[in-house]
Amino acid sequence: MRVRVYIGLGSNLSTPTEQLRNALAAIAALPQTALIAQSSLYISDPLGPADQPRYVNAVAALDTDLSPLALLDALQTIEQEQGRTRKAERWGPRTLDLDILLFGALQVDEPRLTVPHYHMHARAFVLYPLAEIAPHLRLPDGRALTELLSNCPFAGLERLNETSSI
Ligand code: ATP
Ligand code: MG
Ligand code: MG
Repeated sequence: MRVRVYIGLGSNLSTPTEQLRNALAAIAALPQTALIAQSSLYISDPLGPADQPRYVNAVAALDTDLSPLALLDALQTIEQEQGRTRKAERWGPRTLDLDILLFGALQVDEPRLTVPHYHMHARAFVLYPLAEIAPHLRLPDGRALTELLSNCPFAGLERLNETSSI
């Protein structure tokens, strides 16, 4: 059954804008999956260690027949293929991070997967790009995206125009 899924993308190494472009192409090529929309690119201040480059972020909408865990596997494969190395340090620099924000109205609570993403409600670099492509969205618990946005300042975020490249 086709389900509308939202993915958060982030990168702060090895030409982040290209990492995101390549990731979107890889997502569009996944089996049983169609890329429906993508937001503009945004620059954000890093979470966690401050001694790392700023991030480039975006949000994508897809429709998929894959199960949540099959989609997670596929996204982690794309992260690996684009040179993601997992280090002990949490929120350290990375070539590519692909997080499942929402999987239809599903709530998943498994060791490998929590959906909705546990911290999306507090992240400007998730909420503002998401609002671009799904302004009327509601979370499975009924909260409107507009309500989350009103509690999450745009501070630290910058919308990139299409010709920029970092
Ligand atoms: P954060 O989750 O705070 O954004 P992160 O994205 O840097 O941090 P990762 O190192 O990418 O964290 O992922 C750690 C683990 O989180 C993954 O191995 C994955 O199994 C798990 N995980 C749980 N829920 C999700 C989700 N909704 N999307 C992606 N990974 C998830
Ligand atoms: Mg993340
Ligand atoms: Mg992640």
